[in-house]
Amino acid sequence: MRILVCGGAGYIGSHTCVALAGRGHQVVIADSGVNSSSRVMQRLQRLVGAPLSMHRVDVRDRRAMAALFATYRFDAVLHFAALKAVGDSCRRPLDYFDNNIGGTIALLQVMQEAGVRRLVFSSSATVYGDPSQVPVREDAALQATNPYGRTKLVAEQLIEDLCGSDPHFRAANLRYFNPVGAHPSGLIGEDPCGEPNNLMPYICQVAVGQRDRLQVFGSDYPTVDGTGVRDYIHVVDLARAHVDALEYMVGADRGFTVNLGTGRGISVLELVHAFERASGRRIPYDVVARRPGDSAEVFADPSLAHALLGWRAEHDVDAMCRDAWHWQAQNPQGYRSPLRRATTPRVQRPRAVVARLAGA
Ligand code: NAD
Ligand code: UDP
Repeated sequence: MRILVCGGAGYIGSHTCVALAGRGHQVVIADSGVNSSSRVMQRLQRLVGAPLSMHRVDVRDRRAMAALFATYRFDAVLHFAALKAVGDSCRRPLDYFDNNIGGTIALLQVMQEAGVRRLVFSSSATVYGDPSQVPVREDAALQATNPYGRTKLVAEQLIEDLCGSDPHFRAANLRYFNPVGAHPSGLIGEDPCGEPNNLMPYICQVAVGQRDRLQVFGSDYPTVDGTGVRDYIHVVDLARAHVDALEYMVGADRGFTVNLGTGRGISVLELVHAFERASGRRIPYDVVARRPGDSAEVFADPSLAHALLGWRAEHDVDAMCRDAWHWQAQNPQGYRSPLRRATTPRVQRPRAVVARLAGA
């Protein structure tokens, strides 16, 4: 299939482009660059072994997006394009509504005009708010606890309404838990701007000496060791889930909503210790007050994704830490670091696919 990947130069999108190409799909990226580096393309091309089409386009720019749809006959769209920082969304909610909700509306309109009716949407476990029960199933109550979460909830609802109005439109809502890790090549990974909000990139920056100490937000939760518990999922497993979801949605001609997590809860200190083992570095930390709005324990029931897609997370927390550390150690400045020799082979693909991609 020929797939438009909106936000494909970002963290999860870039890994998914590799997975798509690895399964013989043709990839066209549309990314505004608001949270991505232009250097991602060079690395993606090295991984994929063929030229990729990349367009610097904001999904809210209907005219530019319509031109893209007119140039390529897309079979489906993967929609990663969003702003994603919870704290930032509390400071400037209108920007989040505009980019994430406005962007989704504009994209759906352009898709409808072009007659493209297959969408895979990047949703989040944040739509469960502070869940009353773990593991969290897809039929748990939905609730937004911050502006970012509201944008995901509203986008899911908009997509559901569109599916209700158009009997031929199919959408897969993928609710990610906590994506971490990097491609094992060390060529692509997470490159946060400024101070990381999330635990794993913060640990990585402490390990590489960019930050002195980690702050552990609370040690008095009713959890295994008092620290917050989350469901960390390797980004390579997550990327594969997108291809499985896309192929299932198209093959079975049906839409669905699934959780993407491992089903295992890991505490902050368990992750810190796993990272120390993987990296051989000590991660100094201080326990500080709880972060406002945090839940004690959130982890997925991922059984629906397995039942529908045959998908299951394969990487354990040691692999997540190993690959996160490999990326960080190879690229202490993220994508601003010089490109080194790849350490794993390129994606293996049939010759015909390489030729098709080269002609894109
Ligand atoms: P990311 O910021 O690395 O990637 C998002 C990409 O979208 C960036 O390259 C950015 O430049 C681009 N973008 C943003 N707004 C755009 C617009 N209007 N038009 C075109 N491009 C635009 O984030 P990520 O971690 O790869 O997340 C991808 C998606 O997954 C997002 O929708 C995010 O909300 C969702 N998600 C992420 C996490 C996480 O922890 N990383 C968890 C759950 C859900
Ligand atoms: N956390 C922490 N220190 C940090 C960042 C996060 O102790 O610098 C904790 C946080 O309180 C939560 C867990 O790590 O229990 C995961 O936080 P993250 O922001 O990565 O994910 P989310 O809470 O959004 O699921």
